[in-house]
Amino acid sequence: MFKSGFVAIIGKPNVGKSTLINAIVGEKASIVSGKAGTTRDKIMGVYNSSESQIVFLDTPGLLKPKNKLDEYMEKSISSSLENIDCILFVLDVSKGIMQDDLNTINSYSNVPVIVVVNKLDKVKLEKLFNELTKLNNMQNISAVVPVSAYKKQNIKELISEIEKHLTDNIKYFDDSEYTDKTLNFQISELIREKTLWFLSEEVPLSIAIELLDVNLETDVASIQANIICEKESHKKIIVGSRGTMIKNIGSQCRTALEKMLGKRVYLELFVKVKANWKSEESTLNKLGYNKKIIN
Ligand code: GDP
Ligand code: MG
Repeated sequence: MFKSGFVAIIGKPNVGKSTLINAIVGEKASIVSGKAGTTRDKIMGVYNSSESQIVFLDTPGLLKPKNKLDEYMEKSISSSLENIDCILFVLDVSKGIMQDDLNTINSYSNVPVIVVVNKLDKVKLEKLFNELTKLNNMQNISAVVPVSAYKKQNIKELISEIEKHLTDNIKYFDDSEYTDKTLNFQISELIREKTLWFLSEEVPLSIAIELLDVNLETDVASIQANIICEKESHKKIIVGSRGTMIKNIGSQCRTALEKMLGKRVYLELFVKVKANWKSEESTLNKLGYNKKIIN
């Protein structure tokens, strides 16, 4: 019988949550980065097969509220835990399983927790077994699944494990609806990812992408976007001397977008300063941070 449901992904920064979603959903559904905290939104990835539809809520690492954006993220974490069928708690086995990981697992006592022991490819079997014994006496773990999100190892087994917990049998999204809804999001995430990749540590968490115009119907797709930063000095860094930085960012983005969209892309990027954009509700709304994905 067809089954469907919602799954929340929890875990420390850089354990591989986004990579895992991408491995499961099979598309570039959320941003992947070596820098902590870059998954800023409650990102939805939808796994579709003839047997099931699984809606994944990728949650950013827990942060202490500092501004409205952080508060929003906190809220989206707690609200994403309502109405979900199970939690994937993702660990990086190469970092070892810590006491605070066990505490986190214990704190979700009323939802089934599947512990995803990720980065299997980075450790020897002996280390893996040693780490796994730490989970032995945990009461509320419904399954432990070692995977390599990066090498796509054991992903099928993980999906089977998740499917055991799905309680619904309707399709929340049809495949085309999902694609349309997230394509713009994927475009802006791709631009954000590439931009962050080029920038030094001073700027990383202070940019957002605002899509001004997206036309994918024409032979050559055209995309216009603002890279929004907080300070004039950040803008200078992003633009670079004589515009070299923004040029590099633009050409990297264009290549990646062409790969993603399967056609040629005409891309225009602008850099805009919006001081305190992180705290301005209206800007947050416009950038889609308050989008209610699930009712
Ligand atoms: P997130 O912060 O939890 O979303 O983590 P990301 O998905 O952004 O991954 C953080 C880093 O870990 C990236 O450099 C990934 O390529 C890497 N990574 C993720 N999964 C694996 C894995 O299974 N094996 C290895 N070796 N690296 C991984
Ligand atoms: Mg992430």
